[in-house]
Amino acid sequence: MSKTSFKSYRLSGDIMKALDHLGYKHPTAVQSEVIPAVLKKRDVIVKSRTGSGKTAAFGIPLGELTEWEENRPQALILTPTRELAAQVKEDLTNIGRYKRIKAAAVYGKSSFERQKTELKQKCHVVVGTPGRLLDHIEKRTLPLEKLKYLVIDEADEMLNMGFIDQVEAIIRHLPEERLTMLFSATFPEDVEHLADQYMKSPLKIEIKASGMTTADIDHALIIVNEHDKFSLLRDVLITENPDSCIMFCRTQEHVNELQRRLAGLGYPSAKIHGGMPQEERFAVMNRFRRGAFRYLIATDVAARGIDIENMTHVINYDLPLDKESYVHRTGRTGRAGSRGKAVTFATQHEKNIIAEIEDYIGFAIPVIEAPSKGEVAQAKAAFQKNINTKPELKKDKSESLTQEIMKLYFNGGKKKKLRAVDFVGTIAKIDGVSAEDIGIITIQEQCSFVEILNGKGPLVLNAMKETTVKGKLLKVHKARKN
Ligand code: AMP
Repeated sequence: MSKTSFKSYRLSGDIMKALDHLGYKHPTAVQSEVIPAVLKKRDVIVKSRTGSGKTAAFGIPLGELTEWEENRPQALILTPTRELAAQVKEDLTNIGRYKRIKAAAVYGKSSFERQKTELKQKCHVVVGTPGRLLDHIEKRTLPLEKLKYLVIDEADEMLNMGFIDQVEAIIRHLPEERLTMLFSATFPEDVEHLADQYMKSPLKIEIKASGMTTADIDHALIIVNEHDKFSLLRDVLITENPDSCIMFCRTQEHVNELQRRLAGLGYPSAKIHGGMPQEERFAVMNRFRRGAFRYLIATDVAARGIDIENMTHVINYDLPLDKESYVHRTGRTGRAGSRGKAVTFATQHEKNIIAEIEDYIGFAIPVIEAPSKGEVAQAKAAFQKNINTKPELKKDKSESLTQEIMKLYFNGGKKKKLRAVDFVGTIAKIDGVSAEDIGIITIQEQCSFVEILNGKGPLVLNAMKETTVKGKLLKVHKARKN
């Protein structure tokens, strides 16, 4: 983390206040390079991995540059997975909370119609996966004429997943006068090509310290027979005794099987892979992020780009099939200044893949012996104690922001011809309340949601029980979900 302060970027008070609530005191390395460049309207190509604070690196200048008065989308952010899209939307909403920036996330396996309605309303930023975004663009449900900013997040992964044609098709629909930011942990040829083709003399930013170095991560390799892997894992879990750990498997079947076996031992674990319904995937990630269980078993796709704080271990139960995945997987640990450990299992036959990975990362992964019987026996008591202790749930980083916010439900919306200004006009007239205390407003057909900031929720709720909006007395109560 650098010692400069966010103050030096002359950000507006609304953005500074949100950063303060999020506990961001100093910009991270990537932020201190990206924020000033983007504020000066430069295209940037950034080599950095998740965990470096890269979402805020584009989120902060986007929040700053977005014009609140404009109702149509000004920024488009492409992400490879739905989980990441949802997370980026949340991060941007948090950063833009006091400026009332409205962000929408659109992705597949989720109602197209609901997204269409959301995109029709005031919406500053749209985050999404390429397939569904293109779908909206082609059906003209995502207006692009006011678009000024494009972020291609995790570009390497997006291309790995075969999204190149969709990404290019999306870019071709966008106004040429725009600022483009491209983020990638690795820079294979097709990512370079994308940058060459669609960006204007971009500034290249490489964050070395948080790249694929050994700086924050202890790497280890254990050679094992395929059929001994599970017993090796049991021993490693005992000797390493991780507080939180992702185990990667190559296929969904392997994930299912490994989770079944760990659950059979009574270990608190859950799984995530692309074959599971989206809602379940989100629920698992949220519980893992809050520390509700220790072990997450995952395929590469599902765990990509997800920000989980303080994960102590990554175990490559199956070797990744390509060298880039090794960097992505192990990058899940050793984040934000804390050390992590990455243990990889490989069979004798896989030594050529290891050689390729080592060539790519630029160092040999130290080979270690499997834990001995003695080591396992010695570590067992501490492990059992840990596994039997219910973990303390972690606080959500946006808690301080959301604590002061109450979302109100009103039983009137478009059908009753209500608009956001009607709510602002009415609520800002309540004694002790000003327009500054009103957050994001969402008008639906039959109802509306209004966020009340700065702890004024109860006051507004009470007052609105007896105050009309555009001559109509509406039913009002606290919304069920924030
Ligand atoms: P990301 O690389 O976007 O996944 O971010 C990694 C983590 O760092 C997230 O939990 C962010 O909330 C957090 N973070 C981002 N910027 C800062 C900052 N300037 N100070 C402290 N934490 C930050």
